[in-house]
Amino acid sequence: MIHKVFPVGPLQCNCSVLGDEQTREAMVIDPGDQIDDILKILREEQLTLKQIVITHAHIDHVGGAMKLKAATGAPILMNQNDYALLKMLDVQAAWIGMRPPGAVQVDEALEPGRVLNIGNISSSVIHTPGHTEGSICLYFPQEKRLIAGDTLFAGSIGRTDLPGGSTEKILRSLHNQVLALPDDTDVIPGHGPATTIGEERETNPFLQK
Ligand SMILES: [Zn+2]
Repeated sequence: MIHKVFPVGPLQCNCSVLGDEQTREAMVIDPGDQIDDILKILREEQLTLKQIVITHAHIDHVGGAMKLKAATGAPILMNQNDYALLKMLDVQAAWIGMRPPGAVQVDEALEPGRVLNIGNISSSVIHTPGHTEGSICLYFPQEKRLIAGDTLFAGSIGRTDLPGGSTEKILRSLHNQVLALPDDTDVIPGHGPATTIGEERETNPFLQK
């Protein structure tokens, strides 16, 4: 699997470009900004974008989605519980002093348990409410990799003080869903360095019983 992770935009959201080496089909997760850089990677790797996946409707994760869709024709997929938050992008832009990106139109709702296939690469949607109501993680069982959005970070967890946030829910999501994954699962958080489930299970201060 081709997997490029790089931080985009002023809040340095980790954007992922994932591609199948054989079919050259690709998925982009959280194109918050720097769409020209994403398009350059797709071109260099000779990848055809099939899906744009949004882990949650915060502006730093979804801000560039419409521009990427316009350039590639790929549909935008997001969990429906974040639709209300997606309608507040102009308010979110004001919070962080960013230019509002304009309305984002979701093409397909990402239901919990939904399986997404890119060529021979398979991933499943884990609904992990808490940071936002519609937060999801995307799990790649063959590659033992988790794209965690802003639910889990190396040594920390997502903030829950923004609209739709709930500390109780994020802890339930983490303990019941995320920590149910094998210890040797690589975790790509929505911001900051990569980690593993085992490392976070052992050392993350927010996950100790
Ligand atoms: Zn967020």
